[in-house]
Amino acid sequence: MPTVTYQSPWMNDDLQMFRKTVRRFIQEELALHQTRWRQQHRPDAEAWTKAGATGILLADVPDKYGGGGGTFAHEAVVTEELAQAGVHFGSGVHSIVAHYILAYGSEEQKRNWLSRMARGELVGAIAMTEPAAGSDLQGIKTTARRDGDHYVINGSKTFITNGWHASIICLAAKTDPRAAGLKSLSLIIVETKDLSGYRVGRSLEKVGMHALDTCELFFDDVRVPASNLLGAAEGLGFSQMMQQLSYERLTVGLGGVATAEQAVAITTKYVKERMAFGKPLIDFQNTRFKLAECKTEAHIGRVFIDHCIERFIAGQLDPVTAAMAKYWLTDCQCRIVDECVQLHGGYGYMMEYPIARMWADSRVQRIYAGTNEIMKELIAWSL
Ligand SMILES: Cc1cc2nc3c(=O)[nH]c(=O)nc-3n(C[C@H](O)[C@H](O)[C@H](O)COP(=O)(O)OP(=O)(O)OC[C@H]3O[C@@H](n4cnc5c(N)ncnc54)[C@H](O)[C@@H]3O)c2cc1C
Repeated sequence: MPTVTYQSPWMNDDLQMFRKTVRRFIQEELALHQTRWRQQHRPDAEAWTKAGATGILLADVPDKYGGGGGTFAHEAVVTEELAQAGVHFGSGVHSIVAHYILAYGSEEQKRNWLSRMARGELVGAIAMTEPAAGSDLQGIKTTARRDGDHYVINGSKTFITNGWHASIICLAAKTDPRAAGLKSLSLIIVETKDLSGYRVGRSLEKVGMHALDTCELFFDDVRVPASNLLGAAEGLGFSQMMQQLSYERLTVGLGGVATAEQAVAITTKYVKERMAFGKPLIDFQNTRFKLAECKTEAHIGRVFIDHCIERFIAGQLDPVTAAMAKYWLTDCQCRIVDECVQLHGGYGYMMEYPIARMWADSRVQRIYAGTNEIMKELIAWSL
């Protein structure tokens, strides 16, 4: 039978070579340790410097700042390979932090932080969410009070990916508590090494993605240089976040598509091998139809995300389309993975099977990077 022949239009020979390097690194340095990392709730620290040495980190940051000098297509290759391997490593969040610095940092800030991040010597985290402020960032209570040539930071953050390892944090805080709502927010870079008053809380017990360190962070009279403010003035934090969130949402949507494609691939293999009533599961029309639906949806998702990637590389991806990608593709991912669990029967519920882990890991995709309900609000504002 004919098979689907499709190649992402942004793919080329250079990226194919890069994909091989990334795939090898994931298999040899990340996948092998996943069971232990899931138990300890974080990757090993050396994984970060090894990833840096292999050129996996900041693949789309200019080489003059120590990055790979590629485009978002390079970052996309890393995202796809991690998703297809079912490996969780916080390089996506790390890249997001780098892109805040790239977009809003001074030349000095970029030179100071980006090359160390590219080498994996600094591990990035983005800290927006607080116990009383998730979707509604107006609720942020963390303050950064100016005191001479420092900011004094007080408050706490929660659900912070890479929280355990984080040595460079892009922190959303109120610099002017008297200013109205979102105008009081600024982004400040916090280097955490030997930082007095900074504390990492427990690694949170999640439903899935156990190999990632997701933590609470506490700031108690933490002093950081005032020169760590991102952007020309205080109060720009919210608009900076709104612009940069497209990058994060595109990455999350792409992870959704790659996971869905992988779910269809492993389930197709499984139903050809598993027997019931004297024949392989694929011989039941329901199995074929369900997988046909999943494959079609995954392919629609692929074409849409490739369109978004091309537009992003051309500097033309608008925030509304990025919100569509994040919402629709992660909903689609969850539908497909859930259907694939069903086709695995009881084995689909056993954590030793990749499809079960995929199911547990997928659920959060509809929640973080802005919930899918918030995405629909953003889309609706454009109506
Ligand atoms: C595993 C994990 C990793 C994360 N990593 C990070 C990270 O690295 N950095 C970071 O800053 N945050 C991170 N987050 C936080 C994440 O971004 C928030 O959980 C998310 O934005 C939702 O906020 P909330 O949990 O406070 O839910 P809430 O805002 O309380 O929302 C609860 C429900 O109400 C709905 N809702 C809220 N407002 C509206 C509205 N206006 N219209 C319709 N429905 C609405 C939501 O959609 C949701 O269904 C992470 C979360 C998880 C679970």
